[in-house]
Amino acid sequence: MFKSLNINDSEEERTNEPSDTERVKCLVVGSGPAGYTAAIYAARANLNPVMYEGLQPGGQLTTTTEVENYPGYPEGVTGPVMMEDFKKQAQRFGTDVRWGLAVKADFSGDIHKIWIDDDKLIEAETVIIATGATAKYLGLEDEKKYAGGGVSACATCDGFFYRGKDVAVVGGGDTAAEEAMYLAGLCNKVYLIVRRDELRASKVMAERVKKTPNVEILWKHQTKGLSGDNGVVEGATLVKNLGEEGEEEVKIKIDGFFLAIGHKPNSDIFKDYLDTDEVGYIKTIPGTSKTKVKGVFACGDVQDPIYRQAVTAAGSGCMAAIDAERYLSEKNGH
Ligand SMILES: Cc1cc2nc3c(=O)[nH]c(=O)nc-3n(C[C@H](O)[C@H](O)[C@H](O)COP(=O)(O)OP(=O)(O)OC[C@H]3O[C@@H](n4cnc5c(N)ncnc54)[C@H](O)[C@@H]3O)c2cc1C
Repeated sequence: MFKSLNINDSEEERTNEPSDTERVKCLVVGSGPAGYTAAIYAARANLNPVMYEGLQPGGQLTTTTEVENYPGYPEGVTGPVMMEDFKKQAQRFGTDVRWGLAVKADFSGDIHKIWIDDDKLIEAETVIIATGATAKYLGLEDEKKYAGGGVSACATCDGFFYRGKDVAVVGGGDTAAEEAMYLAGLCNKVYLIVRRDELRASKVMAERVKKTPNVEILWKHQTKGLSGDNGVVEGATLVKNLGEEGEEEVKIKIDGFFLAIGHKPNSDIFKDYLDTDEVGYIKTIPGTSKTKVKGVFACGDVQDPIYRQAVTAAGSGCMAAIDAERYLSEKNGH
C-alpha cells in the first residue's frame, strides 16, 4: 500500500503530501455489507458516493463458504458471490468503487479529510465509516490450515452446521460464555477451553454456563493444535497447566473449533476525533449512525460489539446513508 521512498524521489513525494485532492459529497470507507448497503442508498439519493474498498474488498464474508442466514437467498449463497451481488447493486446506481486504503483522517473542520494510501486526499461533506472488525485468533498455524473446515469465529454464523456434534469454544469472557450457551442449544457437547481457573464473564453468565449440562469447562487449558484429515477438524490437542506442576497433554474429539477471544474494530485512524469504547468500537448516538462529529457516520461491525451479522451491518449501512442524506439536505437548506 505504501510506496517506499528513496533519495531520488521528488520533494513532493518525500514530504508525503498527496499529489491529488478531490472533493466528494459522500465517502464510504469499507466494502462489506454495511459499506455496500450505505452506497446503494446514498447512490439512489443522489449523493454520488465514492467507496474505497480497503485491503479486503467485499469484507469478512469473502472468507466464508456458505451463508445461510441472509434473507433473500433461500438456497444459501457463498460469501464471495453474495458480496459480488452487493457490489453490482451499488455500481448499478453509480457508486464509484475504488481500490484503496484510508490511512489518516482529519475531522476537525466542516469538510472532512481522508487520506487514501499516500497519494490522494479526499475532502468529503459526509463520511460513512464501514470498516468492520476483525476476529482475534490464537495465532496457530492450524487455524489457517482448517479455516473453512471446522474453525470459526462466529457461533451464530456457523453453529447450525454442527448440530448434534461436539465442538469447543476458546475464551473466558462474556462472548465465550454466550457462544458456548448458543452452541449448547444446537450441539451434543461443548467444551469451553479456559486459560485461567476462572471465567472473566459476568457472574450471571458464568453461573449460567457452569450450570448447562452439555457444557464442560476445561479450566487452565490452552490449545496446542488441531487434527483431522482433508482439512476438516476431527480433534484438538490441549495442554493443561502449561508451565506448571502437573502439566499434561489432553486430546479431545471435536468437529468444530470456535474462537471467542474478542474482535478488533478497525477504527484506529478515526480515534483522535471519535468516541470509542474500551475495545475500540465507535460510539454512535443510540438509534442512529451519527458519531459525535457532524457529517461522520458509522455502521456495521466497527460500531457493533453485540450482533456482528451481515444483515445487521447492512441495516445500519442503510441508516448511515439516510442520516447522511438528511444531514446534507439540512445543511444545504433543502
Ligand atoms: C468466516 C466468517 C463467516 C461469517 N459468516 C456469517 C454468516 O454466515 N452470516 C452473517 O450474517 N454474518 C457472518 N459473518 C459476520 C459478517 O461477515 C460480518 O458481520 C459483516 O461482514 C460485517 O460487515 P461490515 O460491512 O461491518 O464489515 P466487514 O465485512 O468486516 O467489511 C469491512 C470492510 O472495510 C474495509 N476496510 C477496513 N479498514 C479500511 C480502511 N482503513 N480503508 C478502507 N477500507 C477499509 C475492508 O477492506 C472491508 O471491505 C461471518 C464472519 C466471518 C469472519
